[in-house]
Amino acid sequence: MKPAKAKMPRKPVIKKGSQSNLKDPVGVYCRVRPLSFPDQECCVEVVNSTTVQLHTPEGYRLNRNGDYKETQYSFKRVFGIHTTQKELFDVVASPLVDDLIHGKNGLLFTYGVTGSGKTHTMTGSPGYGGLLPRCLNMIFNSIGSFQAKRYVFKSNDRNSMEIQCEVDALLERQKREAMPVPKTPSNKRQADPEFADMINVQEFCKAEEIDEDSVYGVFVSYIEIYNNYIYDLLEEVQLDPIKPKLPQSKILREDKNHNMYVAGCTEVEVKSTEEAFEVFWRGQKKRRIANTHLNRESSRSHSVFSIKLVQAPLDADGDNVLQEKEQITISQLSLVDLAGSERTNRTKAEGNRLREAGNINQSLMTLRTCMEVLRENQTYGTNKMVPYRDSKLTHLFKNYFDGEGKVRMIVCVNPKAEDYEESLQVMRFAEVTQEVEVARPVDKAICGLTPGRRYRNLPRGGPVGDEPLVTEVILQSFPPLPPSKLLDINDEETLPKLIEALEKRHHLRQLMTEELNKQCMNFKALLKEFDSSLLNKENYIQEKLNEKEKLISGQKSEIERLEKKNKTLEYKIEVLEKTTTIYEEDKRNLQQELESQNQKLQRQFSDKRRLEARLQGMVTETSMKWQKECERRVAATQLEMQNKLWVKDEKLKQLKAIVTEPKPEKPERPSRERDRERILPRSVSPSPVPLSSNNIAQISTGQQLMSQPQLHRRSNSCSSISVASCISEWEQKLSPFSTPVNVTSLARHRQQEPGQSKTCIVSDRRRGMYWTEGREMVPTFNSEIGVEEDRCRRGDVYKTRGGGQSVQFTDIETLKQESPTGSRKRRSSTIAPAQPDGTESEWTDVETRCSVAVEMRAGSQLGPGYQHHAQPKRKKP
Ligand code: ADP
Ligand code: MG
Repeated sequence: MKPAKAKMPRKPVIKKGSQSNLKDPVGVYCRVRPLSFPDQECCVEVVNSTTVQLHTPEGYRLNRNGDYKETQYSFKRVFGIHTTQKELFDVVASPLVDDLIHGKNGLLFTYGVTGSGKTHTMTGSPGYGGLLPRCLNMIFNSIGSFQAKRYVFKSNDRNSMEIQCEVDALLERQKREAMPVPKTPSNKRQADPEFADMINVQEFCKAEEIDEDSVYGVFVSYIEIYNNYIYDLLEEVQLDPIKPKLPQSKILREDKNHNMYVAGCTEVEVKSTEEAFEVFWRGQKKRRIANTHLNRESSRSHSVFSIKLVQAPLDADGDNVLQEKEQITISQLSLVDLAGSERTNRTKAEGNRLREAGNINQSLMTLRTCMEVLRENQTYGTNKMVPYRDSKLTHLFKNYFDGEGKVRMIVCVNPKAEDYEESLQVMRFAEVTQEVEVARPVDKAICGLTPGRRYRNLPRGGPVGDEPLVTEVILQSFPPLPPSKLLDINDEETLPKLIEALEKRHHLRQLMTEELNKQCMNFKALLKEFDSSLLNKENYIQEKLNEKEKLISGQKSEIERLEKKNKTLEYKIEVLEKTTTIYEEDKRNLQQELESQNQKLQRQFSDKRRLEARLQGMVTETSMKWQKECERRVAATQLEMQNKLWVKDEKLKQLKAIVTEPKPEKPERPSRERDRERILPRSVSPSPVPLSSNNIAQISTGQQLMSQPQLHRRSNSCSSISVASCISEWEQKLSPFSTPVNVTSLARHRQQEPGQSKTCIVSDRRRGMYWTEGREMVPTFNSEIGVEEDRCRRGDVYKTRGGGQSVQFTDIETLKQESPTGSRKRRSSTIAPAQPDGTESEWTDVETRCSVAVEMRAGSQLGPGYQHHAQPKRKKP
């Protein structure tokens, strides 16, 4: 056999992140009930006041082949089999009642397998009142004379309380009493004999430090949680014996303080232990009936009896309750008798009942899980969600663990061997639970009114009869009287002695009376003196009071004046504020307007700039276009003229040839000079040889320019007057349009400014051209020039680099000399004169490739109405 291994109690775990000073662990107590039969095998041993040891029962040991261990479990306190209900109450429950009376919440539950003594502990057995009646007893003992009248407190459906004034409460009482079935239980009623011995608690127990300046009300409710449904055991329902109505389950709600409560649950106001227990007993009976009717197992349900203590402070006079809802303090003590913690198979439940049993175990399982998660969170600082909502039981008590309050659990154990395994489970749960910490409830707020209000207005001093009479005291101080019994008829001593003693007493009495009178007189004098001094003082005080009153009235008027002033100033301020707002609004509006105007201006400015740019572009474009157009027209005109000139020249040559050939024998022609002089006015022979820079100047001189090439060209020819006249005749026959125009030269001055259009003044003269002052006269063509642009490029371009000026002219004669074969290819020469600064000019040759035929066609296409004006500018020096 293996040695028994004693499991030592767990060491307290050092909690992480918990404020030990503000939290208390759940108080777990263990109560071991006595065995039902003395010969039963016992497996639980109370080692000391805090430790129990579980012994493995014999049968169990044999089944497990001797592999067993003995375990010890420690609790806050362990109660053995001889523990009385009173002892248990004093240790476990009375602190909770004390807290309740001081406005703090408490939860007390019994846990254990069926038959372990949970109900015995909580409710009690006949003759042995349990914790519940004892708690009630203590509460009523404590608050007894400070209880509020019935219906002063009224519970509402939001888990809070309302206060009614005394009159309303009285009216409600009368109304209820007038009802056919009085619902109001009487607190004067005798206890039901059924439970009378359970509440007949001999031991007087009372809470300490009761707030006597408050009034109290007690409300009780009793619910049952069965199969995860909540039933109100105090609900008034008409029981139909034939067709019993199924009880309606209730739902849970959360109030504004995050406390869970059963919505619509009956709360009965009770005024005594008897009355409260009677209400409880009513619920208990109902529970039993329901179990029988619905074939339920009573051990599978949890019962919750709640005691709600409502307290409100007395008003400043100490007469009535303060009518302020915020000053009400509500505390609650829940006494829970849990269902048996044994597993389902032990109860041999079947079908529906098995499911129900499973659910009940499920809610206990949830309770276990909640405790485990709470412990884990508190020990390791984790933040796991506690599954309170998984069962109604845990959900209802959620705030006891999450919020604040005092939680205590009594683990009930039946030491019999059959319960061993279940007891082990119970112990393990208890171990877990006592490591869970719950926030300590805070002390209730003080209302702020002066303490001792209740007794302030009551008459002072106790009853008069209790104190010994003054005469008796005086009599006792007199010398004792001699025996007054006459022994015989001849006794002459007794009476005289008695008379003497009485006389002495009489004398003494007289003396005392005199003394008393004297003292009375003295006292009267003193009183008078005191009276007069009092009067003086009173007068003095009155004077002072009058002074003060005057001062007060003066100050009052001053205050009134200041208040008036204040009001005026306030009014002024108001007006000023209004004005300011108006001004500010105006300012805002103006600023907005300014901004919008600015924006508008900017827009306009940018528009203007855009427009300017566009116009600039248009101007440039137009000028370019016109420049090109002018160039094209000028070129076309030049070309046309050159062609005509050339044709005329050819014809002249032919004519010359005709004239000269048949008359070789004719006398010598007049001299060239003479011919020329005669022909010159009509001749428009081509331009001379390429001009040198010096010739530019000669251009202006007109005649000179033209005479030179003629001299040169016509040096070989001999002409006569008859020939000339013939030519003239021939020319006359030609139509004005086909008349060849002899353009000697066309010099054009380009303007320095680009884009400036050039105009050519064309004269009507058919023959010749002359240079006038800065003006070149050319024949006019009333025709449209339809020559393409590339044709316009014909001619010589005279460009100067430095001055940017150019003169263009064409000399067909020269071209012909250069190309004597008569090829259609002609070369345009561009003469670059010397730069104004003396640097060398650049010559550009442009080859023209247009055919004469095309040119002629172009010439013939010139229609009437077309005017080409060219205004060459003189080259600037
Ligand atoms: P539970 O409610 O746990 O099922 P009960 O409280 O109904 O168990 O107890 C079952 C029986 O045991 C009752 O008859 C009760 O009188 C008795 N009993 C329980 N605990 C004690 C005790 N400590 N002393 C005497 N009898 C007890
Ligand atoms: Mg029970």
